[in-house]
Amino acid sequence: MPSYLTIALSKGRLTDLSVDLLENAGIDCSLLKKDTRKLILVDEENKVKFFLAKPADVPTYVEYGAADIGIVGKDTLLEEAKDLYEVLNLGFAKCKMCLAGPEELVGKLDSLSNKRVASKYVRIAKEYFEHKRRETVEIIKLNGSVELAPLVGLSEVIVDVVETGKTLRENGLIILDEIADISARLIVNRVSLKMKSERIKALIEGIKKQL
Ligand code: AMP
Repeated sequence: MPSYLTIALSKGRLTDLSVDLLENAGIDCSLLKKDTRKLILVDEENKVKFFLAKPADVPTYVEYGAADIGIVGKDTLLEEAKDLYEVLNLGFAKCKMCLAGPEELVGKLDSLSNKRVASKYVRIAKEYFEHKRRETVEIIKLNGSVELAPLVGLSEVIVDVVETGKTLRENGLIILDEIADISARLIVNRVSLKMKSERIKALIEGIKKQL
């Protein structure tokens, strides 16, 4: 009896784009289109299991093999730093990881001591300041609406993803430096790639044709 291929999808802005991509690669995703509270959807006919997880947890499911493959943003991969294969850049949900702050800080960043940096991405912010700017800074972890931090005096700068720049602009902030290009990625568990190589490679090929 063939085993299941288990696919972890990120809940949120990546969901619909991920479903379209899989469907166009030949995976029947009709189960994902039903309105249900079920956490795991099992397609017995095609031997596929799907589940939706919080984006930050998708790399964990894939690292441990609870999911064979996953679709997640590069921001999450950089932050979670899990042991897995990143096999494809899917090219959608593009944005940039940026250092941002008030315009007054342009050209003054290096002379400003004791900087506080607010971010959802503590690891990315820490690595950027340590390796690129060679500075030790205080990193303040937030879980969303990070743009608020400099406005209320919680931090001088932020590290966050920027898509159109509208959120920054509307809050009087600007990009001070670009840290990384972000987009959705296909990730694969290291053991699954060997044990289920035929199915996974066929899926990778199906996806590649769309890129
Ligand atoms: P924007 O105003 O278009 O620059 O969008 C920026 C806001 O949307 C920020 O608060 C981000 O946290 C969020 N955001 C934009 N793009 C992404 C993405 N690809 N993944 C996750 N969050 C994003």
